[in-house]
Amino acid sequence: MERADFQHLIDALDGAGYRVVGPTVRDGAVVCDDVRTVTDLPVGWTDEQDPASYRLHRTDDPTLFGCILGPDAWKKYLFPPRNLMWQAEQDGDGVRFVAAPVDDTRLAFLGVRPCDLHAIEVQDRVFGDLDRVYRARRSRLFIVAVQCGRAARTCFCTSMNTGPRAESGFDLALTEVRSAGGHYFLVEVGTVAGRDLLATVPHRAASAAEKDELERATERAAAQITRTLETRGIKRMLYDNYDHPRWEQVAGRCMACANCTMVCPTCFCSTVEDVTDLAGGHAERWRTWDSCFTTDHSYLHGGAVRRSIRSRYRQWMTHKLATWIEQFGTSGCVGCGRCITWCPVGIDITEEMRVIGTSENSDGKEDH
Ligand code: SF4
Ligand code: SF4
Repeated sequence: MERADFQHLIDALDGAGYRVVGPTVRDGAVVCDDVRTVTDLPVGWTDEQDPASYRLHRTDDPTLFGCILGPDAWKKYLFPPRNLMWQAEQDGDGVRFVAAPVDDTRLAFLGVRPCDLHAIEVQDRVFGDLDRVYRARRSRLFIVAVQCGRAARTCFCTSMNTGPRAESGFDLALTEVRSAGGHYFLVEVGTVAGRDLLATVPHRAASAAEKDELERATERAAAQITRTLETRGIKRMLYDNYDHPRWEQVAGRCMACANCTMVCPTCFCSTVEDVTDLAGGHAERWRTWDSCFTTDHSYLHGGAVRRSIRSRYRQWMTHKLATWIEQFGTSGCVGCGRCITWCPVGIDITEEMRVIGTSENSDGKEDH
């Protein structure tokens, strides 16, 4: 598909009844928002990421997907930061409960990176078929993935087997190619819905040489990934190190700001808030995002269980990398690196794991 025809893809999604959302530049960062024209995308921008550091730079290169990941995870659309669960009205001497309407907007995600595709699959396991808000949108979702041709310095998808190339989980997957031969997209078809949509967009068969560009893009991105996280024996290693002195050291830096959990594409903690009107005739229950870094999140009958930052950081990391596997059969980390970039003090999950994993308690034995 030629770059000149990209607007046709957006129009085709719009014409098929999807609200198209994708990367856009706002306030110095790439965030997910509505995309109506190609110019809504971060055309000509690239990002630079390091622990506690994120910068966008203008380039002369008019690529559409030159930025890797911003602070926004796609979860904000499937698991909204705030949603009404139910309402109750006073009804004579009784109370009448009314289920909140479910927003089942048909969404098309444009530009999902391989690690974020895996994050969506992780949240599928978490929410399953039980969460009607999640399920309503997820079941109607159309995904256009973008294969990575470069990596940020905070990426470590290769350690988590989630990238830099997506093999499944998309309707269509694009590889953006800029060369002397022009500016075009290789398109892989993942589903029947993807095939049908592509049929409405101008395209042609790719040559063998053009198809090789996908391999080259993957190799280029993989070669740029320098961070690693050892996953062999990870559960046992964390379970054996509840009292490691490193938890206290990292707590000395951690501000319990919860940034890492807000930007994480798999974190799913929530809380509920009940509100009433002043007359007491109407009540509502809202679900809002929460974080295991807040004291209140571990409140149980009379007090918080995890009062120290040490215990909260340990809970977060042990859940992500170990107990999550017991609960959901998968790691809670896809190696996107957002928590490293957006931690204001630059705490790096790969570094914390390295320090704890190389202690004498850790034997690195395989576990399940
Ligand atoms: S824990 Fe960090 S690197 Fe892993 S998925 Fe969450 S934000 Fe990404
Ligand atoms: S690890 Fe960093 S981002 Fe997470 S709560 Fe602590 S200071 Fe905030």
